[in-house]
Amino acid sequence: MTEREQKIETAVIRTQTPASPHREHSSAIYMTSSFTFEDAEHARALFAREAEGQIYTRYGNPNVDEFIEKMCQLEGAPAGIALASGMSAVFTALAGLLNSGDHVLASRSVFGSTHQILTRILPRWGIDHTYVEAGQPETWATAVRPTTRLCIVETPSNPALDLIDLAWLGEFCRTRDIVLVVDNVFATPVLQRPFALGAHLVMHSATKYIDGQGRAIGGVLVGDRRLIDELAVFMRHTGPSLSPFNAWLFSKSLETLPLRMERHCANALKLAEFLESQPQVAWVKYPYLPSHPQFALAQRQMTAGGGIVTFEITGGLEQGRRFLDALQLCSLTANLGDTRTIATHPASTTHSSLSEAERRAVGITPGLIRISVGLEHPDDVLADVGQALGD
Ligand SMILES: *Cc1c(COP(=O)(O)O)cnc(C)c1O
Repeated sequence: MTEREQKIETAVIRTQTPASPHREHSSAIYMTSSFTFEDAEHARALFAREAEGQIYTRYGNPNVDEFIEKMCQLEGAPAGIALASGMSAVFTALAGLLNSGDHVLASRSVFGSTHQILTRILPRWGIDHTYVEAGQPETWATAVRPTTRLCIVETPSNPALDLIDLAWLGEFCRTRDIVLVVDNVFATPVLQRPFALGAHLVMHSATKYIDGQGRAIGGVLVGDRRLIDELAVFMRHTGPSLSPFNAWLFSKSLETLPLRMERHCANALKLAEFLESQPQVAWVKYPYLPSHPQFALAQRQMTAGGGIVTFEITGGLEQGRRFLDALQLCSLTANLGDTRTIATHPASTTHSSLSEAERRAVGITPGLIRISVGLEHPDDVLADVGQALGD
């Protein structure tokens, strides 16, 4: 066969750590804390990085390396590191690159724990931040300071599903020498590849669509080789490394990620269209609905709309809670990106500690419901949501 690049669907299935002497077909799990040296010279060469090979699982492991290699292929990035959770990936990117006195630019609706790192932890080390509005890119230039070193954004955002034009932001950061970090959890590399659009680092919570079955916590960062090398040193010494077992799970799950995303997106679009026809629903937000204010950008930047749909139920907070209680099939749980459809009411749960004004600032209205549409037959999901709305 002549040399040609494999399609992504093939690469995520066929990329594999070399087999052991048992010639296993599916990758083995390397549950070992350390790896042996042939002799004193081999040990010296490994530590001096003159030889390739494993040393200690906090530094690296065959299962972890296999997972990273597939993530790099999916994101089209040259290098990566895997971490114990999505949040350890965010924290490693920030703490591993920033110095005291640096300033961070962040899109306002970031994941709750990212918000906590920016507002409670980094200020202790003299690292400041400014929130900017995803929908108003023209205001970003005024928020930049001479000390702005890094920009972190989520697109689509959680739970507002607002988008940021990554090609525009990539250029904005490049001309100002700002490191751009994109949280690509909602889109996954199947729908959106921020590295090609100018991001320096792409972050994932592998807990979500990458595992896709609600089993394990993990994270990954891929991107620019020089930055990843710096972060790899930070990770090796501070220790938020991914366990080999979780890496094995995630790597196996990646084999079906393209297929799963296709169905998540198809089911989500069906649910979004159904909700738009319901009288108890004030509005529906989904990137691939023509009614989304950034529909044109969504079509340019993403190959499909993703698996998350949000809508506003009329009747506010009380009606939102009543809707959740009436669901029979959909799960009530604090996760997303699962085979099982999950419904959440942010105002009374994940964002209940915020004031109503703070919630509004990040697009969380009292009756906002977020649905992570799973892989059940869409007729069953629509029937459950329909009956819970009071059909
Ligand atoms: C879940 C999530 C995270 C955090 O990941 P964990 O694996 O829970 O640590 C970060 N960003 C987004 C958008 C998420 O959904």
